[in-house]
Amino acid sequence: MHDEYAILCERYPAPKCALDFANPLQLIIATVLSAQTTDKRVNTVTPELFARYPEAADLAAANPEDVEEIIHPLGFYRSKSKHLLGLAAALDERFGGRVPRTMDELVTLPGVGRKTANVVLGNAFGVPGFPVDTHVMRVTGRLRWRSDWRIAKSDPVAVEKEICACFPPEDWTDLSHRLIFHGRDVCHARKPDCDNCPLRETCPSFAIV
Ligand code: SF4
Repeated sequence: MHDEYAILCERYPAPKCALDFANPLQLIIATVLSAQTTDKRVNTVTPELFARYPEAADLAAANPEDVEEIIHPLGFYRSKSKHLLGLAAALDERFGGRVPRTMDELVTLPGVGRKTANVVLGNAFGVPGFPVDTHVMRVTGRLRWRSDWRIAKSDPVAVEKEICACFPPEDWTDLSHRLIFHGRDVCHARKPDCDNCPLRETCPSFAIV
C-alpha cells in the first residue's frame, strides 16, 4: 500500500481540488453542486453563481428559479437549487453566514454528508479529511487496500476509517486527491488502462477488470 502510494505521489506530485473556489463558502457550494456531474462542469457555472450571490444570506434570499437557471447545465437543477438555498439559509441562521470548521457541525447542514465535509475541511481549512468518492472506492478496492473489496457497495464511512488508519492525518487530503486523479486518468470504471498504469507491477486487479 505505502509503496503504491509513493508511486502515486511521484505521478501526481502537486494534487489539488479540481473545483474552483476562493473561500470556504464557495467550496461547500461547489462541492454540493458536484454530485452526479464533473468538477469541470461545475466550474463553468459557479463564476456567475458566486458573483450573483457572494454571501450565504444572498443565496438564502435568492429566487429559486434564478438559481435553477444558472445551474441548469449540471442536471438535477431543481433539487440542487433547493439544497443550495437550504444550505445557505442554515449557514446564515446558525453560523452567521460562515462555514463551520468541524465535521460535527458540517454534517448538520442540509445536503452535507461526510464526503462534502471532508472536502471542505481538507481543502478550505487545512484540517485533515479523507473524502471517499466513487473513484476512491474503486481504486482502493482494485488495489485491495481495504478488506471489503468484494462487496459491490461498500460503506464509505467504513472505507474512510480503514484507509485513514493506515496513513498519517497530514496525508489524508492529498491521498484522496491522488486516488481520484488516478481513477479519472488511468483506473477508469469501465476500461482501466492497466498497460499504462504505474501500479501494474503490484496491483492484484491488473488486466482482470
Ligand atoms: S493495474 Fe489496472 S486495475 Fe490496477 S490500479 Fe492500475 S489501472 Fe487500476
